[in-house]
Amino acid sequence: MSNWPCDYNQAWTLARASERSGVGLHSGQTSRVRLQPSERAGYWVGWLDDPGLPLHRLDPECVADTRLCTALTLGQRRLATVEHLLAALAGCGVSQAELWVEGEEVPLLDGSALPWVEAIGESGLRNCGRRQVPVLPADPILIHQGTGFALAQPADSLRLSAAVDYPQPAIGRQFFSLELTPDLFVEAIAPARTFGFREQVDQLLAAGLIKGGALDNALVCDGDDWLNPPLRFADEPVRHKLLDLLGDLALVGLPRAHVFAYRGSHGLHTALAAAIATAQVDGLPPVGMASDSLPRTLSTASVTTGPLPSPARP
Ligand SMILES: [Zn+2]
Repeated sequence: MSNWPCDYNQAWTLARASERSGVGLHSGQTSRVRLQPSERAGYWVGWLDDPGLPLHRLDPECVADTRLCTALTLGQRRLATVEHLLAALAGCGVSQAELWVEGEEVPLLDGSALPWVEAIGESGLRNCGRRQVPVLPADPILIHQGTGFALAQPADSLRLSAAVDYPQPAIGRQFFSLELTPDLFVEAIAPARTFGFREQVDQLLAAGLIKGGALDNALVCDGDDWLNPPLRFADEPVRHKLLDLLGDLALVGLPRAHVFAYRGSHGLHTALAAAIATAQVDGLPPVGMASDSLPRTLSTASVTTGPLPSPARP
């Protein structure tokens, strides 16, 4: 499929089901996800291995752990590493879908969102009318965490910006900013793969993590160089940060805003998504109301960030 929606103003679901399976980054276990159309706004998770459980709508309150990935608690079940799949759905313009899962972690595939974009392309899209957009307060929402921060300011469209600053010369300082459209997402963001650092690999394996990590599904930085070049973009790391930011924002829905993350992490991104969700509750309009039919001024007192999750590794 090459005719993606031209912007994020309309609601779209999938035209038919598609499916992918593969190894989970942290569990090392094979899992499967079937993407299906949804008649309701938002992303809903059901279980292929326990279809009797009710579908669970994803929102920032589901976030259980942001160390290395975004992991959710959904009733009795847990689902890890949702961010690249959610970025693919949101980035391609899919605002509502059912995700039927077998296992406890979304497959990592090649470490980017591209395999999910291909699955969505196989499904095709179906228009569902006017999109529901979360409303932001007139004043910016700012979240600090460690040396990083994330900021969301109302705008006429969605602009995402990210900056990273690593001591490793292979990455160093990178900045990327774009006014997002589905076409630009597919071309410039979706192919950017996840990355890690050589010195952390043994440590993470000892902690029972990244059992599914491999040189073909994650870039590994070794100070001055990469263990597994070539990169898909010279600035692939910061583009991947943008991909992660988009996937975490998808938990609350894409706002019309300029969202900027400096030294972003899943902890920071999901705290920002939670603050946007809180602004809906405190500021009257619920998540899902069309922003252009609602007042765009909320009192600054309503903007609360709450307790922040512990700092996460990049
Ligand atoms: Zn990622």
